[in-house]
Amino acid sequence: MFDNLSDKLDAVFKKLRGHGRLTEKQIKETMREIRLVLLEADVNFRVVRDFVATVSDRAVGQDVLKSLTPAQQVIKIVREELARLMGDGEDNSLKLAAKPPVSLMLCGLQGAGKTTSCGKLALKLRRDKRNPLLVPADVYRPAAIEQLKTLGRQLGIEVFDSTINDKPVDICSRARRYAELNGFDTIIFDTAGRLHIDTELMGELKGIVQAVAPQEILFVADAMTGQDAVTVAASFNEQLPLTGVILTKMDGDARGGAALSIRAVTGKPVKLVGMGEKLDALEVFHADRMAQRILG
Ligand code: GDP
Repeated sequence: MFDNLSDKLDAVFKKLRGHGRLTEKQIKETMREIRLVLLEADVNFRVVRDFVATVSDRAVGQDVLKSLTPAQQVIKIVREELARLMGDGEDNSLKLAAKPPVSLMLCGLQGAGKTTSCGKLALKLRRDKRNPLLVPADVYRPAAIEQLKTLGRQLGIEVFDSTINDKPVDICSRARRYAELNGFDTIIFDTAGRLHIDTELMGELKGIVQAVAPQEILFVADAMTGQDAVTVAASFNEQLPLTGVILTKMDGDARGGAALSIRAVTGKPVKLVGMGEKLDALEVFHADRMAQRILG
């Protein structure tokens, strides 16, 4: 997905490679080019500004100017700072240690990949020897409940029986009791999404949070929608105590803006990434590997 960004950064660094020593002017020009490349990749402008300032400070401060291999030094700094931007060094593991059943709630806009991610997550947890229960709490789209039931059947994972006549908060409370009584150690709540954020949706999500006190409240963001995903994440984050982000559709040809900005804008770690439509296409997010991939 970062092909375009990688190519453009590579072109910027190629210009540096021919040089023995660099002048301050050349470094400044490089920073200007990196800034443009990141903006073109749809990275949030504040994030770009801070990023370029940090890289510039380090590039000048670390004697890149005196170095005999300045290009490598600059690339190394950019790689490290990209990784840091995406949360390198922070704990982004799922919090599953609480007394079972542990509740995981997924939220986000319609079409972001919530239901698919619920299925993927259930499969991943079962592979980790857990016993998950899937809970459809989107009563506004009859197809959403059916979709989760179909996924559950495919995976052989139980889906709590809810209908469009139930209230989402009631479904979630009942599902929690059901899980306690029936030996499920993890509950995955698939919540409703809308095309836009609205107060009714937020009110309902807050009600679910109160009712089941989830250990994880994961915002599902469609990486293909770039800055829109980041803006929506920021407003969910203002209203709900999000614990992390799942970035979906990272297998597509998105420009990279969401992946690079969402951690910095929300302050919440990207925990998992969706890498395809198949149910095993969910991976743990590694900021350092992602940075490495971007820089080729
Ligand atoms: P929801 O409305 O948020 O529940 O979204 P869905 O789970 O129904 O997903 C919407 C569409 O995105 C479906 O066609 C999914 O197959 C697709 N999708 C979800 N995650 C990924 C992903 O990681 N990669 C790709 N390529 N498609 C995905």
